[in-house]
Amino acid sequence: MSECLKSKLVNTRKHHVCFGCGREIPSGSQAFCETWVDDTINTTYLCLVCESFASTVLEYGDEYSEHSLPECDPELWECRRIEIEEGDKMNKRLMKKTKERCKQFLVENGWKHDVDNDDGDYESYYKTTHPIVDIGNDEIVFVDNNGDFLHLPVNYYALIGGLIECQMIDMGYKSV
Ligand SMILES: [Zn+2]
Repeated sequence: MSECLKSKLVNTRKHHVCFGCGREIPSGSQAFCETWVDDTINTTYLCLVCESFASTVLEYGDEYSEHSLPECDPELWECRRIEIEEGDKMNKRLMKKTKERCKQFLVENGWKHDVDNDDGDYESYYKTTHPIVDIGNDEIVFVDNNGDFLHLPVNYYALIGGLIECQMIDMGYKSV
C-alpha cells in the first residue's frame, strides 16, 4: 500500500493531468500536489474537485486506480465539480462586475486611471490632492504620501463608505 507523505495546495507552474479524473490541470491554476511513497517516491496532482471529492468519499487507506476516482460515485463527483468550478466562475464574474462598478464610480467622481502605475495586481486611480485608490482583485487600498492607510474589501458600498469616512467625497457624490 502506498502512503501519502504530503499533500499541499499549490499554484501549478506547468500543466499537469489530474491523477483522480484525468482532466487537464492548466498551468497557473490551483491543485493539490501529493507525494506518495511505496517502493519509490511519486508525485501526483489532484484537481480541486477530486481533492474535495476524495476527502468525503474515501477512507484512510482506500486506493483507486489512475483517472478512475469519479467512478466511486459519479453523481457526487459531478455535484462537487459544479459547486467548485461553476461557483468559482460565477464568483469571478460577480467580482469583475463589482470591480468595474468601483472603477466607474471613481472616474465619475473625478479620479483618473493611472495606466502607467498598473502593476498587474492593482489598478491605480488618482485625483489631485487626494490619496490614491488602488483596486485589486482582493482588496481596495487607499494610499497617501505615508503609504497605505486603508484596506477595504472589493465592494461598491465599502468603497463609498471609505471615501466618505476619509472625506475624499462629499454627500453630493455621483452614484453609478
Ligand atoms: Zn480531478
